[in-house]
Amino acid sequence: MSAPDPATPRLAIDELIACPRCDALHRAELPHAGERAICRRCGTVLIAPRAGSYGRILMLATTIMILMFGAVFFPFLQLRVAGLRSDASVFDTARAFAGGNMAPLAVAVALLIVLIPVLRVLLISYVLAPLAAGRRPARHAAAAFRLSEDLRPWSMAEIFVIGTAVALVKLADLAQVVLGPAFWMFAALVVVTVLQDGFMCRWSIWRALEAER
Ligand SMILES: [Zn+2]
Repeated sequence: MSAPDPATPRLAIDELIACPRCDALHRAELPHAGERAICRRCGTVLIAPRAGSYGRILMLATTIMILMFGAVFFPFLQLRVAGLRSDASVFDTARAFAGGNMAPLAVAVALLIVLIPVLRVLLISYVLAPLAAGRRPARHAAAAFRLSEDLRPWSMAEIFVIGTAVALVKLADLAQVVLGPAFWMFAALVVVTVLQDGFMCRWSIWRALEAER
């Protein structure tokens, strides 16, 4: 370790922001209203606060909860073979698998496509609802937000939609397949989740959580 160069201005660690894509270090500054801070090297958006974004994220969180309820309990698809019809929801399917040796699969599917996305929505709402109302952050809000960010890669509703779409193409040779409302709700869920992520400026949220501690 060498002594710090006196010519280099000393910056506190929380004044710096690293680009998540290329690691370039920047001095963080809140952009003016309607502007956003992008990485000087690769152009990744670093800070993009938007007026009213907390309220919008909370509304999208409510939308996700409603869509998830329908996606789990409404018929996902209908199979028609030789005059026979069969409707199945994701809930029915998970329950059918729960007894046999496919139980671990049923548990994994329930966790990755339903429980983790729902938990993330609840955590984000818990963190942002007080901020949207202009109040102090709730207790343990920082820990809740960290957990929600840690769970992000494990929230796999979109992979499920792509996976079933692929499986249905195969199945279409054997039986007539009709997509139920739940399939479209899952598809809408993927879009709404992407929208919600787009509204969420992590830097602004962390700063709001830190300022009040
Ligand atoms: Zn960059």
